[in-house]
Amino acid sequence: MSDKQNRDHDEQDFREIEIKPKEVDPQKRDDDSDYEEVCYVCRRPESRTGKLINMPGGLHICSDCMQKAFDSFEKSGLQYSDLMRMTSLPPGLQFQDPSQMQVPRKQKIRRKKDEAPGFDLKTIPHPHEIKARLDEYVVGQERAKKAISVAVYNHYKRVAADPSDGVEIEKSNLLMIGPTGSGKTYLVKTLARLLDVPLAIADATSLTEAGYIGDDIESVVSKLLAAADNDVEKAERGIVFIDEIDKIAKKKNTNTRDVSGESVQQELLKLLEGSTVEVPVGGSSKNMMVPMATVNTNHILFICGGAFPDLEDIIRERINRKSTIGFQSELRLGKDEGENLLSQVTMDDLRQFGMIPEFLGRLPVVVTLETLTENYLVRILTEPKNAIVKQYQKLLRMDEVDLQFEPEALEQIARLALEKKTGARALRAIIESFMLDIMYEIPKDHNIGSVTITADYINKKGGPLIGFRGMSVM
Ligand code: ADP
Repeated sequence: MSDKQNRDHDEQDFREIEIKPKEVDPQKRDDDSDYEEVCYVCRRPESRTGKLINMPGGLHICSDCMQKAFDSFEKSGLQYSDLMRMTSLPPGLQFQDPSQMQVPRKQKIRRKKDEAPGFDLKTIPHPHEIKARLDEYVVGQERAKKAISVAVYNHYKRVAADPSDGVEIEKSNLLMIGPTGSGKTYLVKTLARLLDVPLAIADATSLTEAGYIGDDIESVVSKLLAAADNDVEKAERGIVFIDEIDKIAKKKNTNTRDVSGESVQQELLKLLEGSTVEVPVGGSSKNMMVPMATVNTNHILFICGGAFPDLEDIIRERINRKSTIGFQSELRLGKDEGENLLSQVTMDDLRQFGMIPEFLGRLPVVVTLETLTENYLVRILTEPKNAIVKQYQKLLRMDEVDLQFEPEALEQIARLALEKKTGARALRAIIESFMLDIMYEIPKDHNIGSVTITADYINKKGGPLIGFRGMSVM
């Protein structure tokens, strides 16, 4: 499976069984009063065109477009009778029902609310509170969780700060470096959920310089707007996570234009530091038929993440080079001693990797994640609020069956996952393959009261221990 497929798979798999879907009031669902009307011709929302003129059939048109229509009508010298003749179409052809031509909800922009936008400092959780909430879901990665909590707290303080005294707090966008499956995306998702802000996840590999095949840079903001229910103010306080950022490193030794590498970094600069962009609403293509919204990215928190595969070699080489020149011979590292090498990364290393200095300058907070060890993988299986083991236990509890795992069985699952070298990602697929038969067979027999997954079962040397109701375990 490719990385992307893997991630899609994970996103489905790591669903949280304890989070209930939001109940939507059926009356509210069809209520469009929160959304702005859009000019049928130029597709701009009412907040930009000024009051729209209501037309028969539920259509709206702005005064600019109405004027243009009159002007062109006059210029062409057409008479009203000509128009009537033109509108009498040949048999079999007919005008589309105007009510069918209305702009769909997903392409409408939410109305601006009267209350002041922004964050109230009192409602922003403190760093230790953010970390405590992250701890409930994310195992290990202590330094990363701490750094993220502080960066996020500062970011939202900046959003809430009063700029009138002339002291402007700089943006603290984040760069997250960590191996595949170490929890980068998961951390960001958990963060957005606990802060209750919209989140857009984009893949840097799909971005290309404007005008080339691929997604425009602004598409990431468009995604965020969609995640915010087309509410521009909400989107302007959201989080954008750009994954696989290492894949847009400057290409080495290339003579052709680097449209998906250095150019993308260049184009991202504006977004990262804060600018006003026009983005299509409810779609990624800018065309006549899609309304446009203006979004200011100044208060959007950008988090870029990547595995940076060869970065460890660059760090190792730098440290070794230094130690052979100076007195720091104790710093010299062997091939396998680089467990925590990533945490020693410098801007120079990242520059050597292929990230341009201006781009790095806009990501002042660098967070590194550790490779997950066997011990961490076991903890991931059992400790988080929505741990996989807890999910299976809950499912079987619904059949009044008690599910237990022998500690050695969990260790063996973690070992199998380690072999796949995809971090915690492999855990779900492995445990699922062992649980399939159990989830199939158990509900068949109402006498079964408990199941214990043993190491032998995982090693394919035996079966699980089955306990019958009212009897001891067999
Ligand atoms: P990546 O670093 O490649 O973005 P992900 O965040 O997508 O990795 O991790 C894949 C899955 O593994 C997540 O959905 C999450 O359930 C699990 N996972 C990874 N790291 C952790 C962790 N530290 N604690 C708990 N679960 C984790």
